[in-house]
Amino acid sequence: MQLKNKVILFDIDYTLFNTDIFKETKLQKYSLYEEVKEALNNLSKIARLGIFSEGEIRLQKTKLESTNIADYFQNDLVHIMTRKDDEMEDIITRYTDTALFLVDDKIDILYKTKKLFPSVFTVWIKRGKYAKSQKPIDGFEPDAIIKTLQEVIPVVST
Ligand SMILES: [Mg+2]
Repeated sequence: MQLKNKVILFDIDYTLFNTDIFKETKLQKYSLYEEVKEALNNLSKIARLGIFSEGEIRLQKTKLESTNIADYFQNDLVHIMTRKDDEMEDIITRYTDTALFLVDDKIDILYKTKKLFPSVFTVWIKRGKYAKSQKPIDGFEPDAIIKTLQEVIPVVST
């Protein structure tokens, strides 16, 4: 297998970026969950890293730049769009030759991706307001459920 034939696509809000603090400070404080930088540093040695995020492109990019993690992500692996539902199929199709891992705090995004692309490895990071309120989806179990990004390392290494 080609070195680093693995790709991990990360959601931004509530996955990498501490959106609670951002909102509490009226959009002033850009910060990450505390383990994120070290986890990205470790993961960048075993996989190529990218972004699969919903929102306004400029703002989402500012979240990566202001927290000094933008350089971990290869430009062509950064996907930011208004609605994931609309572009998911187009984007994930590009990774059919790759071992793709998708990390998101929203279980329905993982579920929809898995339905379209059963070979994608879905990782549910259970933190933030959505993770707390989401109901289980009948007949769907993410491939991994984690609380912090450090837990992605063993998942991707195997
Ligand atoms: Mg999110």
